[in-house]
Amino acid sequence: MGSPKENLVIYNSLSRQKENFQPLHGAFVGLYVCGPTVYNFVHLGNCRTFISFDLVYRYLKHLGFKVRYVRNITDAGHLENDAEEGEDKIAKKARLEQLEPMEIVQQYTVDFHNTLTKFNNIPPSIEPTATGHILEQIEMIQKIIAKGMAYEVNGSVYFDVQKYNSEEEYGELSGRKIEDLVAGTRDLDGQEEKRSSLDFALWKNAKPEHIMKWTSPWGVGFPGWHLECSAMSTKYLGEQFDIHGGGMDLKFPHHECEIAQGKAATGLKPVRYWMHANMLTLNGKKMSKSTGNTLLPAELFSGENDLLEKAYDPIVVRFFMMQAHYRSTLDFSSDALNASEKGFFRLMEGLKLAQEMPVSSVSSVNVNELISQFYGAMNDDFNSPILIAHLFDAVKIVHAVLSKNETITQNDKELLLKELNAFIFDVLGLKELTSEGDKSLEIVMELVLQMRQNARETKDWTTSDAIRDKLAEAGIVVKDGKEGATWGKG
Ligand code: AMP
Ligand code: ZN
Repeated sequence: MGSPKENLVIYNSLSRQKENFQPLHGAFVGLYVCGPTVYNFVHLGNCRTFISFDLVYRYLKHLGFKVRYVRNITDAGHLENDAEEGEDKIAKKARLEQLEPMEIVQQYTVDFHNTLTKFNNIPPSIEPTATGHILEQIEMIQKIIAKGMAYEVNGSVYFDVQKYNSEEEYGELSGRKIEDLVAGTRDLDGQEEKRSSLDFALWKNAKPEHIMKWTSPWGVGFPGWHLECSAMSTKYLGEQFDIHGGGMDLKFPHHECEIAQGKAATGLKPVRYWMHANMLTLNGKKMSKSTGNTLLPAELFSGENDLLEKAYDPIVVRFFMMQAHYRSTLDFSSDALNASEKGFFRLMEGLKLAQEMPVSSVSSVNVNELISQFYGAMNDDFNSPILIAHLFDAVKIVHAVLSKNETITQNDKELLLKELNAFIFDVLGLKELTSEGDKSLEIVMELVLQMRQNARETKDWTTSDAIRDKLAEAGIVVKDGKEGATWGKG
């Protein structure tokens, strides 16, 4: 059997199968996850991916691995529409808002951190930025040029995909064949510097109006988007490391290019296990900033969006996400969130009741088997919905013991409590919602909303609006719905 640590199985997107996880360096695990491009508020879809990898990080740590978790901040080089031409997303936003690019980066990095903290994500061990690693990126380009896999034209450097493909396999991660890729792309069309339309930029020559630029052996320019992740993962995790994650939409071209860059520079496959988190959808379509099909975390926490019936606590939203496997798509809806909210409170109530279970001299329930089911679920490619189903089995047992239909010994009770706490708080990253302070706030808010309702019934709109505005000043958003007013923290 072995310990749970030896039985972890991960679905590797590269081999398209589940594989037993064997880290390169014993108990040490290197984990790299592509971070956000900080030119806008993160939407709930982005958060899903980061929460999925928070689960991975938490479970690896729970198993006893010493994890170095690196997640970058893309603060330069990501061009519009992920294209090879166009404006840098951050520079564009800076131009439109008449701010310094670094002001944009700062604002949205802070928002990103605050948002993930609300979801109870653990910060990564290292959070490197693209602009802080220009030298490493230049060095990597030099290595790739020295291997004959990249060429310079007019101050830009391009990765030679055809040349690489003559020795290696370009497209192995996404399952694309180079012939199909060539057939599927338009002519070079404005990108005449490239030998082939598949080639991608490692370094781009900066036009005079470009604001984010650095000197390099090829002149003044800026790095290509795919390069930063290769350079930073190599610097902090080595030329070959254990796990690389990101959203499914990054598989091609971003991750395909990362493999090509790493292999061209060092001769080694950079990553052992590729993990891809699936998309959060809204109305059945991918949540995406560019199409406007989004929901912002702040809207969810305040309830201020027509799609929402009320405000939701970030931890309830996290639980909702944990109820789907990270490789399945998850469709967002108020109904689904309401169901998750009920489930969440049922689970937390069960945990509280577990402490009150009377103990007996024998156990009629099999606690060890239940616990091995917790591990079995998470060891099967981090299957959090199955884990949650087993946690609810535990809640059933708690109720059965309380109603004297089953018995449990002191030792078994302690063991069950320890593991329930570990899986609910450490692994799933959930939290108790109502602290004492929040409880009093709930009572006060119930009273205030009732007073406001009385004012509305007598058409005293001045008082009703004054209450709403005063609460808004205090960061509390009141929302009027069909079934009366609800509130949330904005
Ligand atoms: P970006 O800032 O656009 O590079 O995206 C940050 C992360 O969010 C990437 O890993 C994306 O794959 C991921 N992502 C973007 N849209 C969604 C979505 N609708 N659901 C889940 N993850 C997403
Ligand atoms: Zn990346």
